[in-house]
Amino acid sequence: MRLTGSLYRASNPQAFPLNRLEPEDALRMELERALALNRIWQPIATVSLRHALTLVFRGRARIVEPGTFQLFSWEQWLAEKSVPADAHVLEGDYLRTAARLVLQPEVVTLARFAGFPNRGVPFSRRAVYERDNGRCQYCNRHVHKRDMTLDHVVPVSRGGGNTWLNCVLACVPCNQRKADRTPAEAGMALRREPEVPTRSQLLLRGVAVRPAWAAFLRDDKVVEAETPGR
Ligand SMILES: [Zn+2]
Repeated sequence: MRLTGSLYRASNPQAFPLNRLEPEDALRMELERALALNRIWQPIATVSLRHALTLVFRGRARIVEPGTFQLFSWEQWLAEKSVPADAHVLEGDYLRTAARLVLQPEVVTLARFAGFPNRGVPFSRRAVYERDNGRCQYCNRHVHKRDMTLDHVVPVSRGGGNTWLNCVLACVPCNQRKADRTPAEAGMALRREPEVPTRSQLLLRGVAVRPAWAAFLRDDKVVEAETPGR
């Protein structure tokens, strides 16, 4: 979904004057993210607000109002979701320009199909580290990446596999203490049962999640279960 060209090429004289965004809001356009859905409303990426608005501005995506699931073109959004710059707005995040305050879009849906979301998450040490938030799953201490060990919950010597469900992040002392035993045998409790990470977890890694996205992210495992063999 790489885009070229300038967001500010206003071919439509009615278009919102994005080039006159207040400086701090221009910065916000890069920092804030919007959730992008494919044409059948599966979340496929988070993109910068600038990228999202570019897509909408060019008619390649529409804005979804999270509360109502109503779709808006750029012009419709401007007509219905902006107020004069001197208006008092009580809730919501607005993009400030000289003339108008525009409600910040949070979700866009692409006009073209744009593919399916990433399917599974490949198993790897690094991915286990991310799934477990960098914390030892026995003592909960934060572990630096270079110091991490992969603990096999059921030891390899007992047939335990290199799988999402059998591997957790552990610090060196915990891993040594547990040794070739199950957690029960070692008297060590897991902080939580290891899981296969969901698409949303992958999608949202390192992203400040907006509450409005929740309604679009709940599918994950259900969708996975309903579409076998795809
Ligand atoms: Zn530990």
